[in-house]
Parts: sequence; C-alpha cells; structure tokens
Amino acid sequence: MSETSYDRIVRGTLVLPDRLLEQGWVAVSDGRIAAIGEGPLPAAKAVDDHGSSLVFPGFVDGQTHATSYKGLPGFADTSQAALAGGITTMVDMPYDNPDPLNTMERLEAKIAAVEAHSYCDVALYATIAPGQGTANMAPLAKAGVCAFKISAIESHPVRFPRLPADDTLAILEASVETGLPVGLHNEDQEIVRAAIAALKKAGRTTPEYHLPSRPLAAEMAATANFLELGQATGAHVHIVHISHPRGYDLVARYKEEGVRATAEMCVHYLHFDADRDVGRLGARMKVSPPIRSGVLGALWQRLEDGKIDLVSSDHSSWPVDNKLVPSIFDAGAGIPGLETLVPSFYTDLAARLPNPARVLCEQVSERPAKLFGLWPRKGALAPGFDADIAVLETGSFPFDASHSHDGLNWSPYDGETFGARVAATYVRGRKVWDGVNITGEAGYGRFVPRAS
Ligand SMILES: [Zn+2]
Repeated sequence: MSETSYDRIVRGTLVLPDRLLEQGWVAVSDGRIAAIGEGPLPAAKAVDDHGSSLVFPGFVDGQTHATSYKGLPGFADTSQAALAGGITTMVDMPYDNPDPLNTMERLEAKIAAVEAHSYCDVALYATIAPGQGTANMAPLAKAGVCAFKISAIESHPVRFPRLPADDTLAILEASVETGLPVGLHNEDQEIVRAAIAALKKAGRTTPEYHLPSRPLAAEMAATANFLELGQATGAHVHIVHISHPRGYDLVARYKEEGVRATAEMCVHYLHFDADRDVGRLGARMKVSPPIRSGVLGALWQRLEDGKIDLVSSDHSSWPVDNKLVPSIFDAGAGIPGLETLVPSFYTDLAARLPNPARVLCEQVSERPAKLFGLWPRKGALAPGFDADIAVLETGSFPFDASHSHDGLNWSPYDGETFGARVAATYVRGRKVWDGVNITGEAGYGRFVPRAS
C-alpha cells in the first residue's frame, strides 16, 4: 500500500454497511473507491479531512421529478440541488415536459440531456402510455432503464396519464420477463374526481380541502388493486408513495404471501401533519397522496417495524407561483425536496432512534441502490463502488430556502432548524459541493444503467 499514491483520501467517521468507523478513510482512484481503512493515511495527491463528520456513501434519491416543468434542461437546476443535499444519483421519473419517456427515442434524448445538463448521476424510469402496448418494454429495459412507472389517476393527459386496468395487467405481465419493478402512483381516479367535484360545488377550495379531496379510500383502493395484480402476474409491484400506515401494513401482508411488493416512503410524510401544518403552509404542502392527520407516530413505527423499503424526496420542480393560486385544486401537486431530504430525515431520525446514521444510510443509499439495480456500483462505501460520498456535519443549522440551488427557492421546510447539513459531496471522486458552493459542472453527470 505504501507504494500506491491515491487520487484522494476522504477522512471522517465512515458509515459502512455494517458499522460506523471513527477516524476512517476512503481512498479514491480513477473515480472509484480503491480502499477503506483507519488510522494513518496512505499517500495521496489530495487529503480532505472532515474530522468527526459523518462520511456516507452518496445518497440515491429514489424519486425525483427533474424535468416535469422545465423539460429536459431542468436537469441543470435540479441536479445542483441534489449535490447540495448530498444526493449523488437521482432516480428520475418519466413524466417529462412535454412528453413522457415511453420510447427508445425519448430514452436516447433524455440520456443526452443528462450528459449535457446534469451535475449528478441519474438513473431513469420509463413509462408506457394508455393503449401503447408493451412492445417497448423489453428494449427499454435492455437499454438500462431502472423501472417502469404508471399511474392509476390522470395528473396530465399526455405527460402523466391514467392507465386503465387492462393496460396495467398487460404491463405487469410483460415486466416479469424484464425483471424490472413497476411503480404505481396509487390513487383511484373516480373517487378523487367525485370528491373534488363535490367540494368545488360546495365552494370549499381553500388548502385544507386538499386532504378530504383525496380520501384514504382512494389511496387504499388503488394500492390494493395493484398488489392483487402483482399477485396474479408475479411482477414486482412497487408503490411509489404511501401516506398512511394501512398502506405499509397491506404491502407487508402481500410480502408475507410471497408477492414481490415494495413500499416507498416520501420523507415529507414522516415530517408534516395536515392538521398541524396546513394553516401555516397552505398549498406549499400540497402533495398527492396528501399529507394526512394524526398518523406521524404510526408511520415512524412502520419504519421501525421494517415495513418501509426506502425513503425518497419525490422532488417536484414547481415554481411557487404554480402553488399559490386561488383554488387549491388548481395548485400543482408536489414540493421541492432534494436539498432537504437528508438534513430533515437525519434530524427527525436523531430525535427518535439511537442509530440515525445507519438508518439514513440504509433507507436513502443502500436500499434505493439495490431496488433500482444500481448496486454494486452505487450505495456503499466499499472497494470497487463509485467514489460517491456525502459528508454530514451535525449541529444546528437554520434552513433558508431563498438560498436553495434548485432555481425554485421555496420550500415547506423554510425556517426550520436542522440537526445536520451537507458539508461536502463527491461524485465519482470529484468534489462537486464544498458546503457553500457547487464546484462541479453541468454535463459531468452520467446516466447509470440498471445492472442486469
Ligand atoms: Zn413522484
């Protein structure tokens, strides 16, 4: 080892797959992790000593909507927010503006956009349009998309349509051959549309009516339906966001039965409560499925019970003007979250559990890397993995959304105090965020194909 001179050493308290290693070091060569150690440092061209700060494998956001507003160039702003939030790989959803990713041509265009605009690495979901048929699924899978996503409710007629049950069944059948998960946006369209119509008719269009417009029955009906189709086909059915403990319990029951089912949590469901927060946040906390009331404790219990497969941001790149409109039913659903996912989740974990660093690493790095087929390239500090690293400094840090890097500069977390901040981020060995400034560049990001 004394013969070798590494490109870089990153030193700190390493969050390893099995333990925390104080005064550990990660040695980087050619963008990959070459060695892990402790004690005296080997020779290197550069040494970044982060003292006792926590050194994590780069975080993988399992659910980003980078391009739903600004189109494919939206990768530039969104990926800078990712780096400032310690996220080195975004798993991007297929609902691009103006057209979704459902053909090989659109996949090629999106990969080119990643490699032109993105500051971080990107894995890609694909989708299938209503009536399109499943012929594109095998080629898209072969080209490296990490999963398919469909919706039980229309959010936009072209970009984000609703898939009817016969199409959904055919997609699940075709997915089995590819081995890819199929993710569902789980809300029943008829129930939600009827509830919205009734509320509008009654003149109830202020933010507190978002929650009753999307009753738990709508979420559970869509979730249960999809799990049953998973049971019938043998497909991997992935519920991309569950807002209520009943959903996690239902997925767990299907898992026990042997169904390939997984349940994703978005971090805002673990943080906000509709009764407590809608008065001060209004449309700034509008997400779908909605943030519910009185379930925070039970959701945290599901995390402790092992019923949550991963935690993601569901970052949506909506400007605040798109939210602050007269009727809550015209406000865009979705919130920015790449920059706050790790600091807010770490803060809440530290207040509730004895091992916040380990749980954070598992839920926001290891598990998404494995689910989306990025392991063993992403998701761990271990030799041979990409040298993607996020350094977390603990302390007391007020969050000011006006300084965000996503080009949106608003957040429901604005004004909160976090117990951690991202002090540095590295992608493939290069420092791309120094705790104050983005030091990477557009086009450094790469498409990460799913490992076969
Ligand atoms: Zn989403």
